[in-house]
Amino acid sequence: MISVEEAQEILLANVPERRIEEIQLQSALGRVTAEDLVATLDIPPFNRSAQDGFAVRAADVENAPVDLDIAGESRAGKGMHFRLQPGKASVIMTGAPVPEGADAVQSIELCQFSDDRNKIRILKSVRVEGNIAAKGSEAKAGEVVIPSGHRIGPAELAVLAIFGYGRIRVYRKPSVAILATGDELVEFDQSPGLDQIRNSNAHCLAGQLRYLGLSADYLGIVADDKKKLKEKMLLGLERDVLILTGGVSMGEYDFVKDVFNDLGFKILINKVSIKPGKPTVFARRGDRLIFGLPGNPISTLITFECFVRPVLGRLCGMKKPELPKMKGRLLADATHTPGRTGYMPGWAFWEEDGWKVNPLRWKGSADIIGFTKANAAYIFPKERDSLSRGETVEIMLLPDFMVRCQ
Ligand code: AMP
Ligand code: MG
Repeated sequence: MISVEEAQEILLANVPERRIEEIQLQSALGRVTAEDLVATLDIPPFNRSAQDGFAVRAADVENAPVDLDIAGESRAGKGMHFRLQPGKASVIMTGAPVPEGADAVQSIELCQFSDDRNKIRILKSVRVEGNIAAKGSEAKAGEVVIPSGHRIGPAELAVLAIFGYGRIRVYRKPSVAILATGDELVEFDQSPGLDQIRNSNAHCLAGQLRYLGLSADYLGIVADDKKKLKEKMLLGLERDVLILTGGVSMGEYDFVKDVFNDLGFKILINKVSIKPGKPTVFARRGDRLIFGLPGNPISTLITFECFVRPVLGRLCGMKKPELPKMKGRLLADATHTPGRTGYMPGWAFWEEDGWKVNPLRWKGSADIIGFTKANAAYIFPKERDSLSRGETVEIMLLPDFMVRCQ
């Protein structure tokens, strides 16, 4: 059986070529640029005042306090467009262009009007360029401001707007379908009959995909029947990536892998030494990918984060979509059946002396209710059967780490 790391290597070697599309600025949040974006103008576009105050010639106020005549006013959107003469000052607002002839701005707190408000007393000297953001000091026209391969956050949206980028080229999101398998499953809005349970995995996966910025077509529940499974899978294979849950273990009704073979897919991962989540399957046919995730709810959740996220994130253009892992101290003893690397639910937090994680009580890989108390998974090395309080462990923060802390 291959290790988690070996499985991840196989996955990374099988990320199909990414495709590119053009989208609008308004829908660019979370997308990854597929082109270098250059400054289309100098920023600031003019020498800009960083303060409300007075534009002056630094040489005039060298021996402050000095009194200067007020020659005019420059405000944001309406600058003073004549040259400031020696011995004069102009009223200026934050964001306004500094008039020609002035080379510094003194802030209003260090100035005092004369009684008739015709003169201004500058109380303190100011250095050349003081309180001025020079034209082009933040970006020069032609310079790359957002490189290709950069994920767009709110600040980047602002930058796109600054340079007038209404449309940009980004990596295309893969299309994804989710299919739940199992004779026992009914939908959340149905009452489970004898021996039935509600399908919860499809909703968990949809949420995990949303955190990655993706949406999926939900293809419903398919019974443990080879023919029906094949039909539904054919539908799912119209998408780039098909995610199945259930049916991949060794049970008598677990046909998923047979159908993968029938459909001409090559199974590249069959089992991984991870707990929960051993019977994870990954198969490929050309650019089409299928993930078969084990049906136990936490197995589905963990294997998605460990194996599906790295591939989907890369298809979206992300450089490192893996969840962050940090080292931290375990706050209680914990046990584990050795043999497979454990991803155990925990509550992680940071204190001045580092990361800590509280192991949570849970009733095994079906216990998604217990898992709602987790914001992280701590990693149990495969050769260990117990960990002691105070030991250093690896902690993988879950995507809802921030949400859970709010
Ligand atoms: P399987 O991987 O099909 O052997 O399923 C393992 C366990 O997960 C069984 O107890 C299933 O009933 C349960 N299970 C499978 N699919 C789902 C699902 N979509 N939602 C909730 N539980 C599921
Ligand atoms: Mg099943």
